[in-house]
Amino acid sequence: MVSEFATSTARKPGGIELGIPTPPGTILVKAMSEYDVIIVGGGPAGLAAALYTARMNLKTAVLDRGPLGGQLLNTELVEDYPGFDSILGSELAMKMGEHARKFGVEVRDFEPVHEIDVEGNTKVVRLESGEELRAPALIMAAGGLPRYLQVPGEKELSGRGVSYCAVCDGAFFKGQELAVIGGGDAAVEEGDFLTRYASKVYILHRRSELRAQPILIERARENKKIEFIFDAHVKEIEGDAKVQAVRYEQHGTVKELKVGGVFIFVGFVPNSALLKVHVDHDQAGYILTDRNMQTSVDGIWAVGDVRAQLTKQIATAVGDGTTAAVAASQYITSLKDAARA
Ligand code: NAP
Repeated sequence: MVSEFATSTARKPGGIELGIPTPPGTILVKAMSEYDVIIVGGGPAGLAAALYTARMNLKTAVLDRGPLGGQLLNTELVEDYPGFDSILGSELAMKMGEHARKFGVEVRDFEPVHEIDVEGNTKVVRLESGEELRAPALIMAAGGLPRYLQVPGEKELSGRGVSYCAVCDGAFFKGQELAVIGGGDAAVEEGDFLTRYASKVYILHRRSELRAQPILIERARENKKIEFIFDAHVKEIEGDAKVQAVRYEQHGTVKELKVGGVFIFVGFVPNSALLKVHVDHDQAGYILTDRNMQTSVDGIWAVGDVRAQLTKQIATAVGDGTTAAVAASQYITSLKDAARA
């Protein structure tokens, strides 16, 4: 793969060799690598972008703090991605990763990013390992993290009955009664999934109307192990060594539900804070883009769940990634043309 921008030679400009003392918390630059395109996030949006940029002969790195796949790894069955009437989330993640690798993408999983900065036209990605990656184009595909309910007991009992991932933790609750909090797609779909293990699943929602898609609601309503509790405002998760009950208020009365686990699906917080430079975003932190996924900063695109948009689906994430890849390629060509002129 030939690139005018990518030298790919690592050098060591950092303070370790020079013996320069650094303040605590400083990340030493141990090595530097250059690319045409750096993609932060290895979910469907990032992997689609990577596949396209690599196929356009751009030197591409994909970074992910964990294994490749993003939210796919928290999804048991995917039934709404065209071409696959039913596929395991983990299998689709593996296929997407292999596909990107086949076309020469440098996949760097388990590689947490510390911060992203801009120096002139260069986007600088500093890794927690101390390495620094540079490229003219950066595609932000970092997704987000589950939103916390922020009630007493949630933090204390996290991992001891409080969970944010049904696929990861459901099997620990065989034969138990569980509470699911939320009324969106995730709460309803994951609540349905949890009945594989649980004897009963209560879905507690703060309003009387669910936000989830009708097909998911219908499926959950047909599931005899699911009971919806509406207008339920969770006040506390109780338990000593592990979850024993959830306390909620309904129409002015405080009630208690004895459960062995509480699964919280109350939304998502986008991972936009890694950007040190200001990028326009909405109130919730979702990055604003134009229809080409271009952010307010030249040479930075945002795709998938980290950007403000109507929906967060695998198909739309893949579309975002594709659009950003083409736009990034055009941008790199324009920089090369300007350099030649
Ligand atoms: P979501 O659609 O934002 O729903 C969050 C739910 O949590 C809402 O019902 C909301 O209540 C409730 N909530 C928020 N803050 C709360 C609080 N402090 N206390 C109690 N309840 C609270 O989030 P999501 O379900 O995680 O889904 C995120 C995105 O992923 C969506 O775009 C969704 O379409 C997508 N997704 C799709 C699928 C699928 O297609 N199979 C599966 C999972 C997720 P209100 O309704 O009152 O606001």
